[in-house]
Amino acid sequence: MTKITFYKGLRVIGGTVVAVETDRAVCLFDFGFTVADRADESIRLRPGHIPQDYVRAGMLPAVDGIYEEGAAADLNLVSYHDAAKPHFFLLSHMHIDHMGGLDMLDPDVPVYMTEESRTLYHRLAVQQELTYREHPNCIGIPGGESFTVEDITVRVQPIDHDCIGACGFWIQTPDGSICYTGDYRFHGYHPDRTTAFAQACRGADLLITEGVTVSSEDVDMLSLTAPEPDIRTEYTLLDETAAICAEAGGLVVINPYNRNVERVHNLVVRLAKQNRRLVLDAVQADYLAAFYPLDPLYVYAETVHGHPVPQGAVLISRQDLLRSPASYLLQLDYKDFYELFDLQPVITNYLHMDGSPLGSYDPSYRKMRLQLDALGIPFRNLGLGGHARPYYLKLMVDTIAPQVLVPLHSQRPEQVNSRNIQQRILPREGQTILLNQGGIQA
Ligand SMILES: [Zn+2]
Ligand SMILES: [Zn+2]
Repeated sequence: MTKITFYKGLRVIGGTVVAVETDRAVCLFDFGFTVADRADESIRLRPGHIPQDYVRAGMLPAVDGIYEEGAAADLNLVSYHDAAKPHFFLLSHMHIDHMGGLDMLDPDVPVYMTEESRTLYHRLAVQQELTYREHPNCIGIPGGESFTVEDITVRVQPIDHDCIGACGFWIQTPDGSICYTGDYRFHGYHPDRTTAFAQACRGADLLITEGVTVSSEDVDMLSLTAPEPDIRTEYTLLDETAAICAEAGGLVVINPYNRNVERVHNLVVRLAKQNRRLVLDAVQADYLAAFYPLDPLYVYAETVHGHPVPQGAVLISRQDLLRSPASYLLQLDYKDFYELFDLQPVITNYLHMDGSPLGSYDPSYRKMRLQLDALGIPFRNLGLGGHARPYYLKLMVDTIAPQVLVPLHSQRPEQVNSRNIQQRILPREGQTILLNQGGIQA
């Protein structure tokens, strides 16, 4: 009998943690922070207490068999090394709400992910973007390949999302099959990957899917028969950005999310055709160089702040931008926002492209808007997002046609539905369901 326990991330966007336990092993996925919870970056982390404080703050789950001895003892849990069965993790992608807790695991826990995710995670560590420490036991698996731990076999299945290296998983136990989507969309650079994921997972006994886009609006999913109109895609976004740059007589500033490395690469290639160089901050340049070593690299000198700069990168100074603003497109992280005070005279556009602060729920978002208004810099939202619109969520479920559907990673998972399922379960936190000879018991 396989036990599936839903620990966290069921009615919120972030921090999905599910365990699949067989007679011989325990497979868990993902391990991010729940957003909008009680943890506060203004509070100093206490050395020697970091994992346990995150658990106590409600950001990570209290689960046996995953933390190191000291943390487990403080939390009255069984440590990784004392667990009766081997525990291992799967991580779908490198967004904080899916991987933020990785640093807090016992260093020996095997954590499987795509090779691209492993590369990005290591760069995050090099650039000191992690909360605590680099987890040493990350195992990169090429997309489409499988691995086995005891009696659990997992296939790593690439999927399109706004983070490089995203995947979902097909998990086979002696009792049946479980498919987990991670986050996905059909409007990115690789809709074919998302379609292939759905095809490859047809007939799963249990499908666990995200449902982010039905969080804020009323949706009658069963009545949806056609895609939502006028959706922006990664490709039309490139066209829009190129058109804005072609018209702009000055410096264009963009604020994208730096883990969507493929978008940055495509902007470099696209803008080079109109003789604009994309100038990056040092961290973004490092991520780009890790995946696209042949791309020309221009780094804004004012953003280096001790970050390692990739070899061969050309440093661009503030004076360079002021002297020849129409020759450049500047990627500027919100952390370096005050650079705008000096660059303001030559800036024609500020394009917000899914970077931080992400949206109006973040208090910094309003501050960003107020400051741009005060500076007289025109703001434009060129956001796209990484989540399938409701019609496409339904398409995913309809195509896979699982016996049982569990929607989560959504504020209103009950809105995710399909006629191509036999049963839908909306588990409560901590609930275990059983998988036995292909049948599910809630
Ligand atoms: Zn994501
Ligand atoms: Zn997510």
